[in-house]
Amino acid sequence: MTLLERFLDYVKIDSQSDPDSSTVPSTAKQLDVIALLVRQLKELGVPRVVEDGKGNVYATIPGNDPKKTTSIGLMAHVDTATEMSGKNVRPQVITNYDGGVITLSHELGVVLDPTVFPSLTFHRGKTLVTTSGDTLLGADDKAGVAILMDFVQFVMQTPSYRHGPIQIGFTCDEEIGRGVTHFDPALFQATFAYTLDGGDLHRINVENFNASSAVVRFQGKAIHPGSAKNQMVNAQTLAARYHLSLPTDQIPETTEGYEGFIHLTQSTGGVESAELRYILRNHDLKKLEALEALMQTKVDALNSALDTPRLTITIQRSYYNMKSIIDQHPDILKRVNDAYQALNLPLYYEPIRGGTDGAMLTYKGVPTPNLATGGYNFHGKYEYFVVEDGLMMVEVLKRIFAY
Ligand SMILES: [Zn+2]
Repeated sequence: MTLLERFLDYVKIDSQSDPDSSTVPSTAKQLDVIALLVRQLKELGVPRVVEDGKGNVYATIPGNDPKKTTSIGLMAHVDTATEMSGKNVRPQVITNYDGGVITLSHELGVVLDPTVFPSLTFHRGKTLVTTSGDTLLGADDKAGVAILMDFVQFVMQTPSYRHGPIQIGFTCDEEIGRGVTHFDPALFQATFAYTLDGGDLHRINVENFNASSAVVRFQGKAIHPGSAKNQMVNAQTLAARYHLSLPTDQIPETTEGYEGFIHLTQSTGGVESAELRYILRNHDLKKLEALEALMQTKVDALNSALDTPRLTITIQRSYYNMKSIIDQHPDILKRVNDAYQALNLPLYYEPIRGGTDGAMLTYKGVPTPNLATGGYNFHGKYEYFVVEDGLMMVEVLKRIFAY
């Protein structure tokens, strides 16, 4: 079976997760992909395949070279994003792409235009898989699933390929932030791992945000507006004053790359009481701490200017940048760097402006940076997958495990 055939099979199965569901996994249809993968792993002769009843698959291919002893994991998630329908995906295969505008749907007038998506210009002559303009493609992360399975097929069918122990993990519910909630590192058995959940072939994600959340509460004093003079304290006015005291150059709308931010996510309340909810993000933990301190300082300043302290703040850490832990195991990135170098591929380190399942798994004891898949424009109708880039990732994996 080719990588392309696998990819087309996987994207045709609707496996969206659902943030409003409290079941595990959040949707039963994700198990359709999980069941298919379990069957295919067994058909390929993988000796250990475990499905845990929660939508996680753990599989092991033992090493066949006594000199290669490090147990390394590979992971991909089977659910697709919720931004657009993932039902009845009708993938279109464009061979020998000419670099021009691709019509996704004549009816809907949806096109993939290289002037809008310049990444397309790098894929002239390659094989692209696109949507039909009315659904997402699901390359996030079916491309990762297909690459992982193509690699497994190569390993199982090539006895002369010498490798260390390979641990395989498939998860559900990544898109709704629950990918590793029920994932058991003890069953995974990997010393470190890689998620196959990135985009551009030339990019690796080793850094993600450090994150906290803050809730600021404002106690007002509600009185009939007709007799409010020198009496009323409007909690909403306090909230507005507080928010406007925060820096305007450290918000999502004005930051990129390694720049952190304070983001107001929700405001609620009335005259008597009000509440502002924020998220704080920075790749540098010291700088995140500075943002937290700044929010506290502004609370103190406003409190001391009032008749009585009317503001309280609660700050909580959400997750951490995985980089400091990955840096303690230089072998993880050295394998990737050397593989890219051997294949003559440029490699760039791109910080993620968010969290990843790999970051959470890193803090569960399995350091896990994120590798590319060759998928682009994730989470919508403009999503596409470059087959040659996917095949190149299989070559990268061959080198990582033969190290
Ligand atoms: Zn993903």
